[in-house]
Amino acid sequence: MAVRECPRIVIVGAGFGGLYAARAFTHAPLQLTVIDRHNYHLFQPLLYQVATAGLSPSDIAYPIRSVLRKQRTTRVVQAQVLAIKPHEHRVMMTDGAVDYDYLIVATGARHSYFGHSEWEKSAPGLKSVTDALTIRRRILGAFEQAERESDEARRRAWLTFVIVGGGPTGLELAGAVAELAFKVMVQDFRRIDSREARVLLVQAMPRVLPTYPEALSAEAESALRGLGVEVRTNTAVTAIHPGWVTMGEQRIPAATVLWAAGVAPSPVAHSLGVPLDHAGRVLVEPDLSIPGHPEVFVIGDLAACMDQTGHPLPGLAAVAVQQGHYVARHILNLMQGRSSDPFRYVDKGTLATIGRGRVVADFRVFRMSGFWAWLTWLAVHLFLLIGFRNRFLVLFKWTWALMTSQPGASIIIDGTETSSAADTAVKEEIAKTGGAPSAVARAQGGMSKAAALR
Ligand SMILES: Cc1cc2nc3c(=O)[nH]c(=O)nc-3n(C[C@H](O)[C@H](O)[C@H](O)COP(=O)(O)OP(=O)(O)OC[C@H]3O[C@@H](n4cnc5c(N)ncnc54)[C@H](O)[C@@H]3O)c2cc1C
Repeated sequence: MAVRECPRIVIVGAGFGGLYAARAFTHAPLQLTVIDRHNYHLFQPLLYQVATAGLSPSDIAYPIRSVLRKQRTTRVVQAQVLAIKPHEHRVMMTDGAVDYDYLIVATGARHSYFGHSEWEKSAPGLKSVTDALTIRRRILGAFEQAERESDEARRRAWLTFVIVGGGPTGLELAGAVAELAFKVMVQDFRRIDSREARVLLVQAMPRVLPTYPEALSAEAESALRGLGVEVRTNTAVTAIHPGWVTMGEQRIPAATVLWAAGVAPSPVAHSLGVPLDHAGRVLVEPDLSIPGHPEVFVIGDLAACMDQTGHPLPGLAAVAVQQGHYVARHILNLMQGRSSDPFRYVDKGTLATIGRGRVVADFRVFRMSGFWAWLTWLAVHLFLLIGFRNRFLVLFKWTWALMTSQPGASIIIDGTETSSAADTAVKEEIAKTGGAPSAVARAQGGMSKAAALR
């Protein structure tokens, strides 16, 4: 490949992988273009706190331009990338194209509904700021609707929250919704007791956090139950409609269903024209390039990259960050005619949080849970957040929430949209059964059971 004196490097996606790669080029003599459909970098690990009224979107998002302000040869472009043409060295956007000498693709993942895309409307997933605001609107809106509802069965449906998926995101959501219902909002309503809410976590596999050691899974499950969450393992969701969800033979009226069960790689992968794994991720070479194109690299959630033992690396921020650093260094080596060692992920462990003060941590050489794990979680997340302002605001809001037990961001934005489809469907569902505690409602176990679990 004939490379110009000042090579053109293009990074698609300014998430963890793309942004950390861009920052690693700070002093390099090259033209760097960073393309993202948003003008901000999003700290996804704290999205659940936006969804559950703990933080505001701007606390966990940071303008890409501001991050790269000091890199004078870096251009930021806000655009949606539609396809990559590796043979032409060209990135196709909705409005134009950009040519490259080296390309890094880091467009991440989106939700997967395992072939049931129709479930998305009723059960939003958590991947973007818009998703988080939608979920927040539905959760807070459900309490508002319950407060106005005089029919017992309908109120029960408004106060039923089902979280599908027992991975870290499902646990974060379930724990935070339970804390909202059973602790934070207890004094806020006059007609309902928010503690009457039912929070169900549904997991198709035999245990929550299946990628963690069994002991930590058990601790996480017991912490969830301690918070009042009903945990259903070995239970698959078979249908989701506005206002109800079916698990096996059981149909449960629930106005709020949240999806935390699966992700699929960004569709940009298909345009690369290279082999994908069963999940649709790009099978990369040991140096993270794609077969036949040593100048094109795929990193982060979009890449199917194996660890030293031949197992695929998980979709974690730490993996994307290390790959971003590696690829930047590797490109700089290539520009100087040098080779690089294959990429090697250094696993520093994983953390999962289940409500305030409850965290399980697996640092491989040792495991921990409880208060110290929680302090570690706080420190790691504050350290990784981009921008002093964000760190300061998040620390302030967490401290405030701890002292006052009040959420930091509990306003409903665009309340007219609040679960309107779910509202109609819940009413239809209840109307079918005449408003009386139906077979469905009985199958729920009723309020007393939820109260007993608390
Ligand atoms: C709710 C949630 C909680 C999580 N919690 C943790 C955690 O606690 N710890 C952890 O390690 N990991 C966590 N993760 C996973 C972690 O966030 C991801 O592994 C990581 O973000 C992957 O980085 P990435 O660079 O591959 O993609 P992303 O960070 O997703 O970035 C992709 C970027 O590409 C842009 N983009 C996508 N498509 C296009 C397009 N067509 N055109 C232009 N731009 C595009 C997006 O706007 C985005 O900025 C969590 C993820 C979620 C969703």
